Amino acid sequence: MSARGRAKPPAKTAASAKKKASARAGPSAQTAGETPVPAAPRQETPFEHFVVDFVRARGGSVSLREDGDYDASFDPELAKKLRRTNARLVFDAERAILPRGGLFVAPGSRLGLALLDLGRGRGHVARSHLTEAPDVDATVLAKQGFPVHGARATGYDLGDKRWVLEVVFHATLTYKGGMAEQELRTMVADPRGPRFDFIETEDRRAWKLEDGVPEGEVFWGETPIAGALPRDQAWQLWSELVGWVNRVLEPRLERWRKRCEESRDRDLARINDYYETRLAEERERRRRRGQSEDQEDQATEAELKLEWGRRVKSVRTRWEPQVEMRLWGIEEIARPRVPVTWRFKTPQGERTLEGEIDLAQGAPARLPCPICGRLVGEFWWEGGFVCRRCRGRAGRLSVVPPPAANGSAPAAPKSPKKARKR
Ligand SMILES: [Zn+2]
Repeated sequence: MSARGRAKPPAKTAASAKKKASARAGPSAQTAGETPVPAAPRQETPFEHFVVDFVRARGGSVSLREDGDYDASFDPELAKKLRRTNARLVFDAERAILPRGGLFVAPGSRLGLALLDLGRGRGHVARSHLTEAPDVDATVLAKQGFPVHGARATGYDLGDKRWVLEVVFHATLTYKGGMAEQELRTMVADPRGPRFDFIETEDRRAWKLEDGVPEGEVFWGETPIAGALPRDQAWQLWSELVGWVNRVLEPRLERWRKRCEESRDRDLARINDYYETRLAEERERRRRRGQSEDQEDQATEAELKLEWGRRVKSVRTRWEPQVEMRLWGIEEIARPRVPVTWRFKTPQGERTLEGEIDLAQGAPARLPCPICGRLVGEFWWEGGFVCRRCRGRAGRLSVVPPPAANGSAPAAPKSPKKARKR
């Protein structure tokens, strides 16, 4: 106490330095501004997309008002949870006064929690199906084929139409460490593999869904299931999805970790500087007064060191990187599809490709890339089927340019690279 009283000027420095440190340690002032937690300027957030989609997917209706709010009516189950059948949804966290009939919507809000509950509760999976688009001719689409660059389609065999299940996961990823960031991810699972891919909320929104399980047998891959994915398989799928997300988001996770560590080191350097200076000042002051080390001085120094330790610890905790994935909702969507086997003539001989015609989309269903597993709409033949991203993977490893058989890729631009490698 008395030590602090005596050392008035340094104490002041302490306060202002502290202020500066915490202000900078916050949202990393240069990039994110100094706004407190999620208060961003009013704009449509992924969460907003999600709520709108999910309320609709459950059978409710949502329409955008001119003032940016939404008029919503809820399906019976959600209505029961919220004890109201409709509401005006307000996403704007800055709004001071809630309008009549209004309901604030944020991830931790009443509606947010109700959706979370519905999304992961037993039997609370949204089930729907897509109807066939009019005038879709599977034969014509099969004949048009699945685009494979560098190979020529020579024929196809069509199977019988059937319902095929696709599972859509809605999840929130929270990147923790200092100023948390959140993003909403929508992912689709395909039984072949299983394979996963991200889908855009916009794309998902374009699907014209009918409520409920369709009549007729539904298949998960080659297995007929009774309308819904069995729980153990759903659980298995989710854990595989988590593994997949970890793999594909690795660069993003790595960037986040680096960012947290850099911010932490920057803050630690500032704190260390500050306390080193203060300790030096303290010793200098003592020296000038010519005092021997009395107990009070020692106490001041010990106090400083303790405080220093606490600050270091709190900085480390603050920037501890962690990413949390929370599942908000699952949709099981049955799609009308016709299995098809395409035959291709490739430089390596005839190859077949198993696929499906999606009768709702009126197009061939996307297929998993054998290399990266992403669901894609076209392949390249490079001794095997590869997607756009995986193209030239082999080309980079070897100095031999890919076989010129596809005719379209001139080898010339590659030769300088080739020369440099040697
Ligand atoms: Zn690929």
